[in-house]
Amino acid sequence: MTKNDKQPCIIPGCTRKSCAHGMCHSCYAGARLRIVRGLTTWAELEEAGLAVKRTHRAANPSPFEAAFLKMKDAPGTTPGGEGTA
Ligand SMILES: [Zn+2]
Repeated sequence: MTKNDKQPCIIPGCTRKSCAHGMCHSCYAGARLRIVRGLTTWAELEEAGLAVKRTHRAANPSPFEAAFLKMKDAPGTTPGGEGTA
């Protein structure tokens, strides 16, 4: 039957395979960077059609997501370390 083929990246012009939120690794990294910096949110990207909302509920978050949430939750840690915003 059908293989579990990955969908193409949702970002126009990008030809890579999606890996998260409908985006490929590269686009996802770019989006995540902006979210981390407070420039946008997943909800905003989803509304703009630049990210795919998760269809299934993640009862078990991915290792990355768990680590990411932990990082966001951890006080005193500044991602990027680019100085003051
Ligand atoms: Zn992409």
